Amino acid sequence: MKLAKLKPKNVSDAIGTLFLVLAVGSTFIFEVQMVLPRIHTIDATVNYFHISAGIFIVFNIMSNLWCLMTTENSTAGLMMPSVLKPNWRFCMVCEGNSPPRSYHCQICDECVLKRDHHCVFSGCCIGYKNFRFYYGLLLYVGIGGFYATVLNQFFVWEALGGFSWITVANHLLPFPFWLFGRISFPVMVYTFISIVDLCGFLFGVSLLYYHSMLMINNQTTYEKNKGITQYSLGHWKTNVVENLGSNWVAAILLSPLVSSPLPRNGIDFPTIKENSLNSSKSK
Ligand SMILES: [Zn+2]
Ligand SMILES: [Zn+2]
Repeated sequence: MKLAKLKPKNVSDAIGTLFLVLAVGSTFIFEVQMVLPRIHTIDATVNYFHISAGIFIVFNIMSNLWCLMTTENSTAGLMMPSVLKPNWRFCMVCEGNSPPRSYHCQICDECVLKRDHHCVFSGCCIGYKNFRFYYGLLLYVGIGGFYATVLNQFFVWEALGGFSWITVANHLLPFPFWLFGRISFPVMVYTFISIVDLCGFLFGVSLLYYHSMLMINNQTTYEKNKGITQYSLGHWKTNVVENLGSNWVAAILLSPLVSSPLPRNGIDFPTIKENSLNSSKSK
């Protein structure tokens, strides 16, 4: 874990991370302070259930984000061979040999192990050692966005004055409607949070689907675009363990703090042939 990695590398990364943290925090406060009292005014147990579920979701989003941002995933500090091996590259910026599947990120200014892409919301690259936290983050942003969107339906339409084509337009464009005096400032804020929650749900679920498809083939975005399939180890479950670690179900569903060791070092990746040879040798 490296705390120095929390420092934003540029303005868009800083805005992206701040937006994510503020969206999660303001949604939680909005649901607990405004939405829940409107839904269950009598039954306190139901409220406690929603609040506990909300705390669990917020904890998973924030802890996955923390682990994602602080996990060291670069080639810096690793012993690299001085001769260029097959599938290795020489990185002109790092002035060193880079292992297969690693690429240099201009923003992070380092070669990242099994690099997928640079994520603006976490301000870091998604690669071999932190993919698991990115996947957990997407899952809980999707779940949290869906949960909040369902709860918001019991609050927002009433706040906007009922369901009609004009209030649908209000809901979609809260800022202009507030500027023209159609809705008050608090209603604009509530509606804006609801839109952010809906976007969080759609964004989280779409990216989760996209990365699940990559994961079951053990590919990065670059490898998918280039049609590289040599790292797939055949069965989808084996490929999932390659990406999320051996204890992936508990680690993804419960918490990023649950241990789920990855089978590789992030430098050497066997092909399906080499992997089956290795596993028959170890039997
Ligand atoms: Zn590099
Ligand atoms: Zn990066």
